Amino acid sequence: MAEAGNYRGRHYTAWVEEVKQRKRDSDLEGALEILSGCMAAAESEGQAEGLAPAPWYFEQAAIIHRKRKEFAAEVAVLERYEAACPVGHGTGLAPRLRKARELASKASDTALPVACPACETSLEAVPKRSRKCPHCAETIIVRRSNGNARLLTAEQDQERKRSAEARANDERVLVRANRIGISDPEFENRRRELSGQFGRSASAADTFWSHAGELTLSAARDGEHGREALVRREMAGLLAEEGRDWFEQARLAVEAQLRSISWTRPETLMGVGGCTCGPCTEDRPDMTYAEALRNPPVPHQDCQDPPCQCWLYEHRDHTSNASVAAISVVAPPAPTPPERKWRRWWQAR
Ligand SMILES: [Zn+2]
Ligand SMILES: [Zn+2]
Ligand SMILES: [Zn+2]
Repeated sequence: MAEAGNYRGRHYTAWVEEVKQRKRDSDLEGALEILSGCMAAAESEGQAEGLAPAPWYFEQAAIIHRKRKEFAAEVAVLERYEAACPVGHGTGLAPRLRKARELASKASDTALPVACPACETSLEAVPKRSRKCPHCAETIIVRRSNGNARLLTAEQDQERKRSAEARANDERVLVRANRIGISDPEFENRRRELSGQFGRSASAADTFWSHAGELTLSAARDGEHGREALVRREMAGLLAEEGRDWFEQARLAVEAQLRSISWTRPETLMGVGGCTCGPCTEDRPDMTYAEALRNPPVPHQDCQDPPCQCWLYEHRDHTSNASVAAISVVAPPAPTPPERKWRRWWQAR
């Protein structure tokens, strides 16, 4: 049997350049063929290690299918990735899967008969713009997307608007849930459970808080401070988005981040980076790790782009201001769960 992780005698990470070259040459078929072999190799390696497969190959195949409007094929690739991920791993492609499903379902709408949505009488052609039905005099509203036209009654159109808003609202929360490692099926299960408990349908935000509360507890208990910081940052982000007080969660995130680098020597010089808003870039004190632990200088309450995402990092070169400035505009790296998985992920980018 081929070694887990190999495709045609090479580790799958060795195929990245080849895939990029095929894409540059517009040889998308060739790229897909290699990607297909690499996906299988990444799956078998992931399975052997109990981790999610490297996502890059799946994402690239999905991008090619999207470009060629093969939405069902894109959905299939992304579902394959999801199925290969153990619980709590590999949720990074979930937003793309949701979008692909939406596009696939829109694309399958094309064969709808052209008829009045109110009286269902056939019409000769799709009306150019919204107008009254010649048969029942109800207003027919024409909505176009992706080259398809849908004919709706005023009521159906209101409903369409409401559900589009609800979807956009859910999407905003789901993206954060995916970032803290919650897959869509886990999220939906939890939402169903909560709805049962509440006796009304639980909102996406309710569901997020339920997961996030659990994750911060378990991360703190297991000493996974990096993971705790990641979850708390998303909590602060959602609070800020909802116009609520985000400061305490952002503060706890910084505390957890500092604990996650507890190997740092107390006298190590630390810098502040992250947020690019005015108040945040003005307040960039230098301090030692010990001082930062005692009295963290971030987050900034007066951040203009809340929540404040400022972060502490180790000054690699405190004699050169140029290098410090260069570092400080880069967003802080996400705290890293299993080191191996991330190394593999970076290799694969
Ligand atoms: Zn009609
Ligand atoms: Zn800040
Ligand atoms: Zn700021």
